[in-house]
Amino acid sequence: DTDHVFEALLNTPLDLDSLGPDSVLTEVWVKEIVRKSGMKYKWAKLSEAKVRENKDVERPPPPDPAVLVSRPPVVTIMGHVDHGKTTLLDSLRKTQVAAMEAGGITQHIGAFLVQLPSGEKITFLDTPGHAAFSAMRERGAMVTDIVVLVVAADDGVMKQTIESIQHAKKAKVPIIVAVNKCDKQEAEPSRVKQELLAYDVVCEELGGDVQAVHVSALKGDNLLELAEATVTLAEVLELTGDPKGPVEGTVIESRTDKGKGPVTSAIITRGTLRKGCTLVAGRAWAKVRFLFDENGQAVSEAGPSSAVEIVGWKELPSAGEEILQVESEHRAREVVDWRVYVEEQEKLEQDSQVIRAKQQEHEESYRKERESTAHLTWRQRRSAMYHSNRHLMAHRPSEKSDSQELTLPLIIKGDVDGSVEAILNLLETYDASEQCQLDILHFGVGDISENDLNLAETFSGTVYGFNVGASRAVQQSAARRGIPVKMHRVIYKLFDELKEELSSKLPPTL
Ligand code: GDP
Repeated sequence: DTDHVFEALLNTPLDLDSLGPDSVLTEVWVKEIVRKSGMKYKWAKLSEAKVRENKDVERPPPPDPAVLVSRPPVVTIMGHVDHGKTTLLDSLRKTQVAAMEAGGITQHIGAFLVQLPSGEKITFLDTPGHAAFSAMRERGAMVTDIVVLVVAADDGVMKQTIESIQHAKKAKVPIIVAVNKCDKQEAEPSRVKQELLAYDVVCEELGGDVQAVHVSALKGDNLLELAEATVTLAEVLELTGDPKGPVEGTVIESRTDKGKGPVTSAIITRGTLRKGCTLVAGRAWAKVRFLFDENGQAVSEAGPSSAVEIVGWKELPSAGEEILQVESEHRAREVVDWRVYVEEQEKLEQDSQVIRAKQQEHEESYRKERESTAHLTWRQRRSAMYHSNRHLMAHRPSEKSDSQELTLPLIIKGDVDGSVEAILNLLETYDASEQCQLDILHFGVGDISENDLNLAETFSGTVYGFNVGASRAVQQSAARRGIPVKMHRVIYKLFDELKEELSSKLPPTL
């Protein structure tokens, strides 16, 4: 009765580390105890709650509006394939390098900053397409303030143009239209704007409030106008950020660098990130060792809306994950422990749901089979089914309440068809006692599986295996659930054991 043992153990202070390998408790038990008690996670849970509290309580409304500073907009470029997203990003990046006269090679860190001659800045995410955008939205981390929708003037509104509009609208992110490829002879910018009307994107020329800029990403025409339109919209949005308080951000990209180890690029959304900060993101944590900008330059800090490469992660967090600052490494470890634990619990729950569903499915199909074959003896059923449906044989005579018969529910697994057939032949020739009937729930080829156990458990049956194996997990599951599993390598021994089990079911002969 494991539940009682657990209960007793839970009430006993237990030092898990002191349990040696030859402890009476098996590995499964220890895991089960840890799982049931949540001992290790008691503090971790509190840590997670505390970190969340930092974020959720302090975030809205800002403690003091005066501490807020205006911040650059974070822009995502979206649009149909081949409409020029990559080209536009490349041109914008080059513009920036030229303006700064750095002349260096820009590194790909997932985002880059463009500075206008007026001094205004824009952060562009340079992973075009929906994938990054959707990943972030799914995780509830929307770092994008503005979507620049690229539409090729020679092609017009296409499938992914429409999808991009839907993504932006769903996330309530305003759009600026970049009507691209205007250098082309066949370009028809006004047609693009007309087509956009159907998707509720009404450009200024048509009486709406969506800015549209005619550009050529390839030639670099009108890119400044596009940038200015972005800044104008950003002003309307009154984007502000809080440079103080615990750091918050979003992972844009994650990769393992040969020299630096796990690195992420991130957009900081709140606070100011500095070297030495401790961060958690998903199930990973970091002690920030270095920060780099998109020019590969080490920087000492990064404030709201800046894109930085962060070095110092112990493991890689995923794109779109929320970054939160915590006060200590200890806290970080606990939060990660807790998140791993919660995820495992969810997986366990899902697994058991799947098993339950499968079990129900089996029971259902057994019931149906039984209804259709109720008039046959199991031998007749067997010959009918062995040829039609090798993996399933359905019958449950024990359901008959009017029958005084005793039954022995069996599951037979063999290594090859021949051996299964041989066992079934032997069973057939065996003159089963009038009082006890063999009830073959299932027979088939292959190792003993979790499904076999489910069947055996449902019908209180015994699993017999001939020349087959059972994984450690299956063995442990059988032991835990008290399901008899008998494995044999010699067919007559299997048969002897079966006979013994059968006679043990019979009432004692007087
Ligand atoms: P993406 O799939 O949206 O990233 O599109 P790309 O940036 O890869 O561009 C697709 C093709 O269109 C490439 O051959 C580009 O050279 C071309 N292209 C992009 N922008 C322009 C433009 O402004 N004018 C012209 N003529 N071609 C362009």
